Amino acid sequence: MSVTERQLPVHAPMNQFSVSDGELVVGGERLSLLAARVGQTPFYAYDRSLLRARVAELRQVLPARVKLHYAMKANPMPALVGLMVSLVDGIDVASAGELKVALDAGANPLEVSFAGPGKRDAELRQAVASGVLINVESFREVVALEAISSELGLRARVAVRVNPDFELKGSGMKMGGGPKQFGVDVEQMPALLADIGRAGLAFEGFHLFAGSQNLRSESICEAQQKSYELAVRLAQDAPMPVRFLNLGGGFGIPYFPGEQRLDLASIGDNLARLVQRAQTELPEASLVIELGRYLVGEAGVYVARIVDRKISRGQVYLVTDGGLHHHLSASGNFGQVVRKNYPVTIGSQADSLDKETSSVVGPLCTPLDLLADRMTLPVAQVGDLVVVFQSGAYGASASPQGFLGHPVCLEVLV
Ligand SMILES: *Cc1c(COP(=O)(O)O)cnc(C)c1O
Repeated sequence: MSVTERQLPVHAPMNQFSVSDGELVVGGERLSLLAARVGQTPFYAYDRSLLRARVAELRQVLPARVKLHYAMKANPMPALVGLMVSLVDGIDVASAGELKVALDAGANPLEVSFAGPGKRDAELRQAVASGVLINVESFREVVALEAISSELGLRARVAVRVNPDFELKGSGMKMGGGPKQFGVDVEQMPALLADIGRAGLAFEGFHLFAGSQNLRSESICEAQQKSYELAVRLAQDAPMPVRFLNLGGGFGIPYFPGEQRLDLASIGDNLARLVQRAQTELPEASLVIELGRYLVGEAGVYVARIVDRKISRGQVYLVTDGGLHHHLSASGNFGQVVRKNYPVTIGSQADSLDKETSSVVGPLCTPLDLLADRMTLPVAQVGDLVVVFQSGAYGASASPQGFLGHPVCLEVLV
């Protein structure tokens, strides 16, 4: 290629999975054997060894005093949550349903926190009775928690979710800064903290979550530093010393052509500086980061079988038994503005050099049901297995499985 020719952006290499006998290996098994073991396609498979490796990699880089939490909305599969409970320091839940899964999985309630706007009174009651930390997101929740605490004879443990006065730059989804349904505005914090003191709730600290899916380590470091400094300022108005400071997460993974993996080292250095400062500025506080997709996203694949191969006006369509109803994000309909392809391969022909341009579609009667739009893929036939990488987060549980009445997918932890 000449130097003047512009190179098209490509997907980051999906080299977390190896290839054996021409097939992708997931959880130590060749894909066709794994499919036989699962007994059906489509399915999601989450690789235990990759989940373990990701946590180990983070532990290497993060200062020992930073606690690592798993935000289980990224993937609430009970077996996977069970594994994560054994690997991380705490679990963040966003509903009473998730709370049940976390407690069933053996999570220590002292290390579970519950965030989300619109927590119903019944959910707050379950959370107080469980003894988990509740991230308060409104004045109404304080009133409700005071009543529930006296009814149950248990003081609700609370942290305050702060809607800061800054945003997380370069984030795929912004969840803090400006007007937001999440948390309580920093301007209203003195009044809220006074209410918590009057209500006699057990105040433990602050929660800040600026946004999601960020691949720019400088932005993440900046948000963590600003969050930390804001918490130090707010601590002056707090009814009790700060014991818990959740600095959020937002660590992204590469989904689309041109995206690269996050530079963890600079984030680790930044957190080490904050831990150092906290020793004098917030001496009783544990610093926490909460990660969802970064922990589980790269360890998962979605696998569907080709049921038809069609050519329409020269374009190849591989029609599979899976699609948008199982994997809304890969179809581009879960928060994407412009549709882009996830990394996809033909897992049963993973190292084939015989390639063509093809589109992978699902069985739904809608043009939205598109898993790969004109990608260069190994030539594939009916019976071959299509693999969508980066599918361990926001997959099965974030998809409209009832849409069009096709069979639901299975999930396996391998
Ligand atoms: C969704 C969410 C997370 C997880 O976000 P990821 O992008 O999956 O890491 C963490 N914390 C809160 C409060 C969330 O709402």
